[in-house]
Amino acid sequence: MQLSTGDMLRAAVAAETEMGLAAKAKMAAGQLVSDDIVIGIIRDRIKEADCKNGFILDGFPRTVAQAEALDDMLEAQGLKLNAVIEMKVDDEALVDRIAGRYTCAKCNEGYHDTNLKPKVDGVCDVCGSTEFKRRPDDNAETVGKRLEEYYAQTAPVLPYYAEKGILQQVDGMAGIDEVAAQIDAVLAA
Ligand code: AMP
Repeated sequence: MQLSTGDMLRAAVAAETEMGLAAKAKMAAGQLVSDDIVIGIIRDRIKEADCKNGFILDGFPRTVAQAEALDDMLEAQGLKLNAVIEMKVDDEALVDRIAGRYTCAKCNEGYHDTNLKPKVDGVCDVCGSTEFKRRPDDNAETVGKRLEEYYAQTAPVLPYYAEKGILQQVDGMAGIDEVAAQIDAVLAA
């Protein structure tokens, strides 16, 4: 089971829940949402039946406080992390990838303005839809802010896991198939 705090927060924003309203402005500005909110989301979510056979946390933890809270909640459930994967990508490539990405509005297939265009211009390869969408925070300015937040708040999570001996690095500059193969290899080890 893949659990993305970003996806869950976007769903809360769309549903206009209290949590969504609290998160919306921060997300639009490329800043992190408060630790309390995301820790609460993950604490509830990993207790669901579909997490019984394991889960991949995508975009969490993003601060050392979140990493510490994750340790506590896993310990309380008798669970432990197998691996933490750092995908290494140059900043410039990262901004280009994120600012240029968009998805099919119907089936969510991912595309990119220059790197991965649909075979027929304006038509989704998978479902034929002609409607596409972009995340409002996927513009160059907000991505720059998200990168600043990464270096200030998330990068310190790396030594936290390196000390525990579970940090693994994957070359995120490689092609999609190669990155997938490297992640599979980490998870199979
Ligand atoms: P993502 O979909 O992972 O790129 O996250 C999109 C936005 O959601 C981020 O820029 C943050 O505003 C918020 N967000 C997602 N995950 C977290 C987290 N673990 N801690 C704080 N904010 C988060």
